[in-house]
Amino acid sequence: MKICVCVKQVPASSNVKINPKTGTLVRDGNNTKMNPYDLYAIELALKVKEQQESTVKAITMGPPAATEILHEAIWMGCDDGYLLTDRKFAGADVVATAYTISQGIKYMGKFDLVVCGKQTTDGDTAQVGAELAHFLKMSYVCYVDQIIEVKEKSIVVRTNNDKTYDIVEVNFPCLITVEKSNDTPRLPSYKRSVKYSDHQIHTVTFDKLFDTDESKYGLKGSPTQVERMFNPMKDDNKVMLNEEESSYANQIKEILKDRKYI
Ligand code: FAD
Repeated sequence: MKICVCVKQVPASSNVKINPKTGTLVRDGNNTKMNPYDLYAIELALKVKEQQESTVKAITMGPPAATEILHEAIWMGCDDGYLLTDRKFAGADVVATAYTISQGIKYMGKFDLVVCGKQTTDGDTAQVGAELAHFLKMSYVCYVDQIIEVKEKSIVVRTNNDKTYDIVEVNFPCLITVEKSNDTPRLPSYKRSVKYSDHQIHTVTFDKLFDTDESKYGLKGSPTQVERMFNPMKDDNKVMLNEEESSYANQIKEILKDRKYI
């Protein structure tokens, strides 16, 4: 089976800086790590590989420094790594990011299974997986925390919906996003880091993609534009409703009338 795992390099600290002019994240390349959910995505892909002979390739879209996490993926057990990088990809919002990754995956070949983390700890939208599935025209299952069975033409997984679990069977090719689970991601192996110390990561630039319509990439391909960045305002003008719950509606009505909202 052919498996592709999407991984992203994120800031290692929660002290993320924003460029006030562009509204984009400032990524200085220092103090970064692999997105925690993507470690679980790799672990799940490697579990599938243990059950059925497979190749697992990792892809990331990011600056050249993101090569680091591709090496980490290989040291964990992935077979190969692809860095999708080009100035033309800069400023991409979720749609442009997902489209670019879909093109990178098409460049890498055909896959039965694409695995993403549930969300990142910087962008935090949890939208890339769904949009990527759309662009790749694949079935999509989110919040997967366990593989139940890998069959010849399908995979059976468990999804964690917070208060309930679902068991879902989905045909290949499909894309799943992975939730944290009890399957603690394996650590990068020292043996593999020695064995693969000369392993070349593939670099995929804009001109290598099938679709070279620039209007679909980077800022140009991003329907979302950040208009303004600001800290949330603090509002101390609060009213606590302490009386009987049954009278809450009337109290709220009086407050709204008082403040001339109604
Ligand atoms: P999520 O949807 O939370 O991630 C889910 C999963 O998708 C991840 O676990 C991972 O498996 C996969 N995934 C997500 N991103 C990647 C990736 N890059 N490579 C491989 N797999 C991935 N960010 C910048 O770095 N530079 C910019 O200039 C920039 N400009 C932006 C401009 C706008 C207007 C907006 C709205 C956002 C911008 N961003 C920029 C943020 C960028 O769009 C998001 O980082 C990106 O869309 C991924 O979204 P996310 O982090 O919320 O991913």
